[in-house]
Amino acid sequence: MNFSNALLKLDEFELRIGLEFFLQIDVDLFYMKTCTYRDAWPRSLDEGLFCKSQLPIVRYSFQPCQKISCTLCESSSTIIQFNSYRIHHFLNGYHAILNCPVTCHTKNIIYALTCPCGEYDFIGSTSSDMSEVIESIREAGNQYMHETLISTKSSFYSHRDTNNFLHKQKELIRLYQHSTRCSKVIQLFLNVNPNYDCFIPISFDQAIVDDRNRIIEVSPINNFTDLYIQNVPVPPNGYIFSNCQQEKQRKFFEKLHITKSHDEKMFTSVDFYNVTVIAVLPENCSTLLRQVLECLFATHAETKLNMFNLRTKDTYEFYGLPFHRVWCENIIRSSSITS
Ligand SMILES: [Zn+2]
Ligand SMILES: [Zn+2]
Repeated sequence: MNFSNALLKLDEFELRIGLEFFLQIDVDLFYMKTCTYRDAWPRSLDEGLFCKSQLPIVRYSFQPCQKISCTLCESSSTIIQFNSYRIHHFLNGYHAILNCPVTCHTKNIIYALTCPCGEYDFIGSTSSDMSEVIESIREAGNQYMHETLISTKSSFYSHRDTNNFLHKQKELIRLYQHSTRCSKVIQLFLNVNPNYDCFIPISFDQAIVDDRNRIIEVSPINNFTDLYIQNVPVPPNGYIFSNCQQEKQRKFFEKLHITKSHDEKMFTSVDFYNVTVIAVLPENCSTLLRQVLECLFATHAETKLNMFNLRTKDTYEFYGLPFHRVWCENIIRSSSITS
């Protein structure tokens, strides 16, 4: 995006809001003291853009909407913290203080996602609300996890090939690439879906233990499971699948074949990333202003899972791949606990 040209398209009202944000996204802290929309008000009428002597204060938080039909309020998920009056800390040390009150259904917001591994974060924005964002990321994230664990035909095996993705999805590619290769996230998925244990490669020693004392029931050879088996990702160096796991993979694919024909899923979806709303924009804010501000935040917070920021058009060159560890290390399989 060419920002200088794009910014000329903003109307006077939006330019003023953009500038108000820009001047309060400081080097190490976002603190919008002058916000006067959506039930926000300045903490002091004579303070203006620059802090007087008082320290920054957190005055707003994410409140549950408490509507009966709200899936976010109802869910037992801990990825979002309600009523927490806290400064958000990005992984590079940048801080952000929420500028307006927010609920599950506040639209036009900028949010941060932090991986439970504590090594990667992301900034996104939406014209919709947090409840919808969480749902769509959960849906896609779990589907990609399923595909990546069982097959090399998954879109994420060619890490730089972004052409298969729709424009809207492209911004989120690194987010999903990370979650499918982060052992902490894979663990969250396995805790709820132990039937995927057989796709987690293990060390040679573990494989010996796995196969010892177990009578392996060999399934009859059948062409369609062989096809699936051929596409199972090859374990990284130092890891293998035990015979027992390979037999479970066959059984998994037999079941997959049946569930597919019934249009069912093999997994229960789980939320992966922790969510924080960091800024609320005016109700009728344009997509352009929203994206410009999102990019400003991504630049200051140096979020490694964003596709670009103002410093680079190519995050791969700047930050490298969106993961850096052996994906299957230190994963606890439920089958190894019960054995
Ligand atoms: Zn709610
Ligand atoms: Zn992670």
